[in-house]
Amino acid sequence: MWKIFRPDSILVWEDPTVQERLAWYKAVMDNEKPAKFMICKKIPAEKDPKSLSLEELWNLHEHLSEKFDETFAKIKSGEIDFKNLEDANPNFLDVKIEIAKRIYEKCEFCERKCGVNRKEGEIGVCGVDKVYVHSYFLHHGEEAPLVPSGTIFYGGCNFKCVFCQNHDISQEFPKDGVVVDAVKLALIQKELRDEGARNINHVGGDPTPNTHVILESLRYLDVNVPQLWNSNMYCSKETMKLLREVIDIWLPDFKYGSDECAKRLSSVKNYWKIVTRNIKWAHDWADIIIRHLVLPNHIECCTKPVLKWIAENCPRALVNVMEQYRPEFLVARYPERWKDIARRPSAEEMREAYDYAKELGVVYEPVS
Ligand code: SF4
Repeated sequence: MWKIFRPDSILVWEDPTVQERLAWYKAVMDNEKPAKFMICKKIPAEKDPKSLSLEELWNLHEHLSEKFDETFAKIKSGEIDFKNLEDANPNFLDVKIEIAKRIYEKCEFCERKCGVNRKEGEIGVCGVDKVYVHSYFLHHGEEAPLVPSGTIFYGGCNFKCVFCQNHDISQEFPKDGVVVDAVKLALIQKELRDEGARNINHVGGDPTPNTHVILESLRYLDVNVPQLWNSNMYCSKETMKLLREVIDIWLPDFKYGSDECAKRLSSVKNYWKIVTRNIKWAHDWADIIIRHLVLPNHIECCTKPVLKWIAENCPRALVNVMEQYRPEFLVARYPERWKDIARRPSAEEMREAYDYAKELGVVYEPVS
């Protein structure tokens, strides 16, 4: 049925640029290659992760990351067949899970670095101790190469965007979802793939606070499906390292061209430095579609610097310049306070954004 509503999700694969830039993702999507998490399970960890200190775990992680790269390159080139690799126990994924569990007890999954023990019920800025799933379904509104996308909406977010469209689950009632453990989350992913999902789209809120359970769910997931990280990319370096060998395709949301705008509209510090660092890493590590939401009256301070940076630093990225912004949540309640963004972007502003993207040679990937 989705092929009727979204014929572009089929036609998009005729585009040579999309084929080239999303080659790994497509190979996993079509079950021609294994998802990265499945390769992690084949890389033996010589020591029991539970017996190691955090420092020892990171040393082991670095070593196994090199092993992963060797194996990954051979699988990608066809030099070795994934089916011939033996299961390993313990393995690289187990090391990642153990590190994530330790981080969860003194949380620094994102650059807020709250340091709270979420295992004991303490709550940081994101507002969640456990993993709360609010909904999951086949999403038909994402970018054409992703549709249908097996999207899982988690409660809680490390950003406080005054215009958030998902404010109920991200900021107001993040704990109203269903608490899931790793096994349940694996079953959700399996169900979505069985229903035809081209990928598992971890989103929210933001997926970052849920890194520990998402990683552990992959231990129990026995179907091949690309893992997609749909995030504001405010992850800590540690989280990025944990995700590096697990995420097949990144879907970063790159909104702000200035720290001042990020601070005022999302209450985050050092936005530019952190988010550009992470997007650059993601771009260098895997397939990527970068989203930029055009905000009214923010063409000069945000849209242009964002697109320019992408053009200069992420030549392989597909870019979606988005016009979906609507004044919601606090902006709708207090429009006088958020005057600059209390309307939709105008046709002139969108034209200016698209023209600038074209001028820079940034590939524009429309949603529909
Ligand atoms: S995920 Fe980020 S915001 Fe949430 S508790 Fe951890 S460091 Fe704080």
